[in-house]
Amino acid sequence: MKKIKNILLLISLFTFQSLFSIETICQEYPELHSFFDSQDYKSRAPKNGIKIIDTGIDGPQGASTNIEFREKKMFFEIVISKNLIDKNILTAEELKFIICHELGHCNDADLLKKVVPITVALFACKVSVCWYTVWNLLKYKTLSAKHVALSGCVFMGCELLKNKLNRDGEYFADRYGFALTKNKEAAISMLNKRKKMSKKKYSYLPKFLAQLLDDHPTEEDRINVL
Ligand SMILES: [Zn+2]
Repeated sequence: MKKIKNILLLISLFTFQSLFSIETICQEYPELHSFFDSQDYKSRAPKNGIKIIDTGIDGPQGASTNIEFREKKMFFEIVISKNLIDKNILTAEELKFIICHELGHCNDADLLKKVVPITVALFACKVSVCWYTVWNLLKYKTLSAKHVALSGCVFMGCELLKNKLNRDGEYFADRYGFALTKNKEAAISMLNKRKKMSKKKYSYLPKFLAQLLDDHPTEEDRINVL
């Protein structure tokens, strides 16, 4: 009997995970109750809801949007790190901005029309370059400098274009979040916390190169675009 009860509890936890996640957020941040009840949230909420997952990430970078493809349709879900909620690192307004930023990703029309198809095409291009390189290596047992340079340029070009698309998506989501929250101070203080708490990729490279290689804009650029 106890076993069946546990299984039922597990099923209900799985089914209503997003509901429980919002409840968990509201336990820590009661101020957000009215936001989750509002039409602003309900009309934009991702189909798969919000999930709190133990990712071990403490800072604002612990929130993201996942895309799932099912039956030729795209389903979004917002994922928030458990530590980010439990440790009360953000104020309610900062967390609200993050959630609204993620709602921006979920409701970004460009994502469907432009970003996903281009990202898939770029991935296919990179796979083709890799395959062509391996094929040449197997056939001729060597690679010419011209071939290496060409493959490298194509590969890097794809990567830079993908990063540019991602960065544009981040600016869009920030503006979307700001339009919903109308709280610039909260957005700026969240971005400053993010800067302090996240490790910078490519910090060993010159600044302009590090920015090109990063799929997220710098926090300074994000503040300027708000
Ligand atoms: Zn984002």
